[in-house]
Amino acid sequence: MAQEVWGVDGDNATWEHIMALGDVEEFPAPVPAAPILHRLNVPAPLRSLTLRTAEDYRRATRLLPARHRPVHAESETTRPLPSPRLTTKDLLDRISSLGAHRFPEDGSSGRDQSLAMLWAVSRIAAGKPRLAPWASFHAELRPLLAAFGLPDSKVGPESPFCALPGSGLWEVHGIESGSSSGSLPETGTLDTVQPVAGLTHASAELLQDPPTRLEVVVKLCSTHLDDVDQRALLSQVGLAGYATADGLLDEDENSGGQEVAPPERANGPAARRERTSSSLVRNAAIANAVKELHGHTCQVCETRLRYKRRPYSEAAHIRGLGSPHDGPDEQPNLLCLCPNHHVLFDGLEIYVDVDGIVRQTHGGDSLGHLRRHADHWIDEEYLHYHRTLCELNRLTKR
Ligand SMILES: [Zn+2]
Repeated sequence: MAQEVWGVDGDNATWEHIMALGDVEEFPAPVPAAPILHRLNVPAPLRSLTLRTAEDYRRATRLLPARHRPVHAESETTRPLPSPRLTTKDLLDRISSLGAHRFPEDGSSGRDQSLAMLWAVSRIAAGKPRLAPWASFHAELRPLLAAFGLPDSKVGPESPFCALPGSGLWEVHGIESGSSSGSLPETGTLDTVQPVAGLTHASAELLQDPPTRLEVVVKLCSTHLDDVDQRALLSQVGLAGYATADGLLDEDENSGGQEVAPPERANGPAARRERTSSSLVRNAAIANAVKELHGHTCQVCETRLRYKRRPYSEAAHIRGLGSPHDGPDEQPNLLCLCPNHHVLFDGLEIYVDVDGIVRQTHGGDSLGHLRRHADHWIDEEYLHYHRTLCELNRLTKR
């Protein structure tokens, strides 16, 4: 097998050891290894390890004895739609039908699989690898199932771990058989074997896009998780950022019950926000240009504040700069607002509808048209993202 993969050198010798890493993430563009090796104090060039392409790997695995071959939990015959390209619509459709593939004996439901899926989405939002070992999946999913699973459910993490490949969005590596054998592996077996599982490469790629990610979270919350305390759930899986447009938590939610120093009013009304967002390398010039363009007049209420004998307004990002929104710092993603409307906009209490009318998230009352300036083009995509967030906020505040 080594000869097949690496060939032979002048002495007709080849590598003696082959190490399987499980899964290899491929970067969209080449990443120079030298700076990384330097940081890790590994002398370059690295001669003891050679990564082969996935294609090489597939070709080579045929040369392994059958029992060592990595087997996907899904069976070849039941795998849905082996389409090469997964679209956002496919992704959302498959999210809707989670729970359709399950093990007959364990009574699992769309709820358990959705919780696992939400956990997987949060990994992507946090920049973690899509695949995780059974031990971490077990440790992190168990409390989620206990708190948000169906009442009196006996379903453990092993059920979504092994049944999710049926959704076509999930893969398991390292166990001999999953749903193809028709029965759920024992937890003990999983503990011994430590298989890894997670989103497929295609679904993880789609979820890298923040608007798609948000659509998926809304879909999960509105279909299978509509009966749970979604705000608490999002917070527990590390997606609390969806509670605000800028991804920053309200102070009362941020404090975790501890005393918080009052914001420094002397630094201006938006001291906390300015301080936090500076870490995101906000471009003050872009924000100032928008504020100047509007003459510091709020685009919602036309207020033009004076503060310390100067006009005062705030530039609000429509799709927030922070995680999980990862919006861009550019003029089409900004609004010029008074501090009141900035707070309401970031807190998802108001949004701009498709006709350009500012509305209250709860109740839908109109606050009038968003005032526009001919030289300040606002990207409808960002307003759509903010509206979707407000929709999620409406769901989670029920
Ligand atoms: Zn205003």
